[in-house]
Amino acid sequence: MAKINENFLKLQAGYLFPEIGRRKRAFEAANPDAEIISMGIGDVTQPLAPAVIEAMKKAVDEMGRAESFRGYDDGGTGYGFLKQAISENDYKGRGVDIELDEIFISDGAKCDIGNMQEIFGLDNVIAVADPVYPVYVDTNVMAGRTGGPDEEGSYEGIVYMPCTEENNFVPEPPDEKVDLIYLCFPNNPTGAVATKAQLAEWVDYARDNEAIIFFDAAYEAFISDPDIPHSIYEIDGAKECAIEFRSFSKTAGFTGVRCAFSVVPKQLIAYAKGRDPVEVNPIWGRRHCTKFNGVSYVTQAGAAAVYCAEGKEQVRSTIDIYMANARLICETLRSLGYIVYGGVNAPYIWLKTPDGVTSWGFFDMLLNKAHVVGTPGAGFGSAGEGYFRLTAFGTPEDVKEALLRITNNL
Ligand SMILES: *Cc1c(COP(=O)(O)O)cnc(C)c1O
Repeated sequence: MAKINENFLKLQAGYLFPEIGRRKRAFEAANPDAEIISMGIGDVTQPLAPAVIEAMKKAVDEMGRAESFRGYDDGGTGYGFLKQAISENDYKGRGVDIELDEIFISDGAKCDIGNMQEIFGLDNVIAVADPVYPVYVDTNVMAGRTGGPDEEGSYEGIVYMPCTEENNFVPEPPDEKVDLIYLCFPNNPTGAVATKAQLAEWVDYARDNEAIIFFDAAYEAFISDPDIPHSIYEIDGAKECAIEFRSFSKTAGFTGVRCAFSVVPKQLIAYAKGRDPVEVNPIWGRRHCTKFNGVSYVTQAGAAAVYCAEGKEQVRSTIDIYMANARLICETLRSLGYIVYGGVNAPYIWLKTPDGVTSWGFFDMLLNKAHVVGTPGAGFGSAGEGYFRLTAFGTPEDVKEALLRITNNL
């Protein structure tokens, strides 16, 4: 008899996006002529940069000739040329030394973040922000680090750190001792960013408690404020207590191409029974190379092109399109009297629902009156109730039309 892993039965049925889809379809069935605009998706809309396309085409041609053909990369951790470009552009330029064997290229930050917990013991206490990117929670449920969910959807055994207007949506380190901490800045869904001083508090906490921070920096390219750190390693001591996750998905429109990387510093230590220190980097390397055989050469060649002079400029102008959307969304909503957060250093706008309307109540209002779909904040955790997420990833035309409808009809 085949037995299922019962941890998977604790997961709540995917609720948020299926429910959004259900309400959208019901509206469409009742209003067949309405043209719905989505401001809910976390996916990009602008095409790949020409420099990336050119590099990928060239790489395809190289693969077709015996003398330039390439097989497996360096044990599946990524080609040296891409790691070199990352080390120089993403880190050295910010005063951070990251060696090539601290970088692991992969096909996505979602899988990296989901997989990383696997090399840590089941008795670690996990801390996440509330609202939260669901991957951090669900992968720990699957692993068996939690009990079941309560009525609000919070799992027994996880420490939730509320992100509210009072703390500017940046959680403070908890009073209790936790072992693995998930932080995401710039944040999805709130659009909040953490200052150097705020991240330094976290680094101090992690070092004092021998904890490890999982730092999700998938949106670092959207930071415009020069004082906001792009990498947690800009904080002294972070290489002793943090793993960083990056992705080309939002930075360079790679959501359908697939390329990302994790940085696991060699100084990073976790403990075996009896407090024996264990280096995390080789353990992650062992895990990565056992279960993964690398990202395609063509994709890695495309990712490396993001760092060439034209690539940088082209990627920047695409991000500028999204951030102009974000600015327009914030300005328009503020002029209508809404309270909005985010949208300055992140492609997400976190809107406070007016007059005590619930997140789902606002979803229905927006859909019915403006034919616009967004994401109810409550879907990201109980502290998200009373908030609503809009994304800036639409086309400028759609964003303008959506805002016109909100202005005229809400
Ligand atoms: C989009 C996103 C990622 C990137 O995921 P990929 O698997 O690299 O496409 C990571 N973290 C957050 C919070 C995201 O929103």
